[in-house]
Amino acid sequence: MASLPETPPAWGEGLFENENDLEVIRYLDREMGVNDLEHKANTATATGREKGTNDGVAALRYSVYAPSCSNKDAAEAVKKHLDAGALKLMCTKMVACYFNPLKPSDYTCHGHLAIILGACAMTLGCKLDGIPGYKMFFGSYSSFLGGIYEPAPLMDKAKGQMHKALYEVMIARVAAGITTPLHKEKFAGNGQGMMGGLPIGYKSARDSAKAPLVGMAMSMVGPCDKEDMGYGGHAGCAGQGCGRGQVVNGGGLLQCGKCGEVKYCSRECQKKDWRRHKVCCRTPEDTTEMKEERAKWMNMFYYDPK
Ligand SMILES: [Zn+2]
Ligand SMILES: [Zn+2]
Repeated sequence: MASLPETPPAWGEGLFENENDLEVIRYLDREMGVNDLEHKANTATATGREKGTNDGVAALRYSVYAPSCSNKDAAEAVKKHLDAGALKLMCTKMVACYFNPLKPSDYTCHGHLAIILGACAMTLGCKLDGIPGYKMFFGSYSSFLGGIYEPAPLMDKAKGQMHKALYEVMIARVAAGITTPLHKEKFAGNGQGMMGGLPIGYKSARDSAKAPLVGMAMSMVGPCDKEDMGYGGHAGCAGQGCGRGQVVNGGGLLQCGKCGEVKYCSRECQKKDWRRHKVCCRTPEDTTEMKEERAKWMNMFYYDPK
């Protein structure tokens, strides 16, 4: 068997200039239903014409990475698809993967995939600000990216691009009136005409070195809470796939002795769920302390304190 090269080919040091990034784009196109969308569009085009007269008509190309789309309309169609829910769903998965110590993966844990997703969405002009991020610490997916891109496995140039991109999102926020005193102070009057997402590689008139405003993640070991681990608000047994309303021989559900927040119908359900539950099971004292002393629990500076 032929062996693969140790490092995938790269033709530049920026985002989307190496095979790794393109691989992620292919993955996202597949997972987010963009390939299906493309297939449908091409089928519609083909059936709308007489067979045999299609020669010379290039097939439409859809991708989450706007420059890979065959034309503006294709990019617009992908954007619409993403805005209709596909982006939100994938962002949620990314954030959950990133913080889920039960499913370690080099790919997701180090944030590369999460960053490429965000960068692709920005090339299409999708807004990341409206998409909830890891809710305990990030208001939105863009702020999540702001927290993770620095330690991510990216070349310096790519990090610079990410910095700019996220920075532009903040400018757009200011232009839209979504601001904090910090932003107002730093960006007063600079947000004109820069709405929405922006193409990667956008050249800011401002020297980014002069505006080091995105707080850098010092450590991304953060505590997950119940919602992060997928516990809904339902009243039944929290055992996955169970949901019973009472213990097997009647009577009320048994509650977790440590956190007192999660209930089970049986010891079996509790045991089966422990792998998931242990991640977010903490005493009420710990929960209070965690909320009051974020910094201690998650050593991170965050640029958008409310
Ligand atoms: Zn159960
Ligand atoms: Zn518990």
